[in-house]
Amino acid sequence: MERFKAIRGDHVQLEQFLHEMPKGGDLHVHLSGAVYAESYLRWAGDAGLCLVTATLSLARPSCDAAAGKPAASTVSEGSPIYDQVLDAWSMRNWRDGNAARGGRDHFFATFARFNLATGRVGDMLAEAVSRAAAEHDEYVELMLATDGGAAAMRGTAAGWNADFRRMRDRLVANGFNAVLAEARTRLDQAEAREREVLHCGSSDAAPGCAVTVRYISQVYRAGAPEQVFAQMLAGFALASADPRVVSLNLVAPEDDPVSIRDFPQHMRMLEFFHERYPAVPITLHAGELAPGMAPPAALHSHIRDSVRIGHALRIGHGVDVMHERNPTALLRELSARRVLIEIALSSNDVILGISGAAHPLAAYLRYGVPVAIATDDPGVARSSHTREFLRAVEDQGLDYLTIKRLARNSLEFAFADRATKRRLQTQLENHFAAFERQQQNP
Ligand SMILES: [Zn+2]
Repeated sequence: MERFKAIRGDHVQLEQFLHEMPKGGDLHVHLSGAVYAESYLRWAGDAGLCLVTATLSLARPSCDAAAGKPAASTVSEGSPIYDQVLDAWSMRNWRDGNAARGGRDHFFATFARFNLATGRVGDMLAEAVSRAAAEHDEYVELMLATDGGAAAMRGTAAGWNADFRRMRDRLVANGFNAVLAEARTRLDQAEAREREVLHCGSSDAAPGCAVTVRYISQVYRAGAPEQVFAQMLAGFALASADPRVVSLNLVAPEDDPVSIRDFPQHMRMLEFFHERYPAVPITLHAGELAPGMAPPAALHSHIRDSVRIGHALRIGHGVDVMHERNPTALLRELSARRVLIEIALSSNDVILGISGAAHPLAAYLRYGVPVAIATDDPGVARSSHTREFLRAVEDQGLDYLTIKRLARNSLEFAFADRATKRRLQTQLENHFAAFERQQQNP
């Protein structure tokens, strides 16, 4: 496109162009990481929570300012402590002040600090879809713990049994269906609250109401095997029973010692469940590693195994692909199988320190592996879908036709049902036509 060529060297105009551009969908977003720290702090204040100033973490009442545990509601905007909280709960300024332990550690530490404020799922949904609408996304797949921890508790109660069939039978015999019912009720309540916040269905409905949302069940892979197994069962069963839940994904740092130790077993669990729930599509975080973060062997096969044994149709990140055994053959295999890579450039930069020419995006494109641009944790990373597209152009050198293709990929490879995808794809083409007309006569 002529206008894109004319402005691609102009950061401000390019950002405006990319903001207006239809982006299709965001396929890789963690709901708790999508919310900005400002919202969490406000909700913490509403809930009467306290802030432990020494650790900048939320704590339950009672609060005691004299003992370094003031009420979160007293942390006023613009005060030094307010700024410290925003920095501690996000990647804002981390390179300046909080980088002592590196981006990866700071990133993962944020979640524990604001965790007590993540109970307002409906409000969190409202924030996520409002931002999606503002950025011209029509679709998002949000990762969250759909069951609120109920499945892991059932797993702990059942205890571990390495015979997967017996393990599953024991969970089912002990009333596992109650977990699914609870998860569906939680989603119903969260969506009701979201609609209330956004005034959906009324004449002053917020734009976020028009965004189509699907959920992906998170499985915490650094947990005990019985907890991981039970969460997987919940994810597969929910995705089979509730059209809003489309998939599951393993979360928690891939270089966590437990994640590394149990990786082969997690793949076998996925294979076991895939045989029983073949219609449930799987997406997996894999290859979110940089050399030195984990022993080299951990970088040799996570992507390949996730596809071949874990039956992943999409891979989150895939950053260490060139460190896998025979990477060229793997790239060809990913291309032939049409496995989509969910690319999150800001996240890879702040957590892994990988950007620019060190990022494998160009390799994926060269080998014809489908990719899409995702945000991962836009609240914690203080990023946005527009900023991710901006990085794709400025840091990765992509042209207009390529980023347009990536936007289309984000719907083509979405896990929503076929009819929903068709509707969204038609809508996206209409939006592109209008956008390009408008860009020709700015
Ligand atoms: Zn992720």
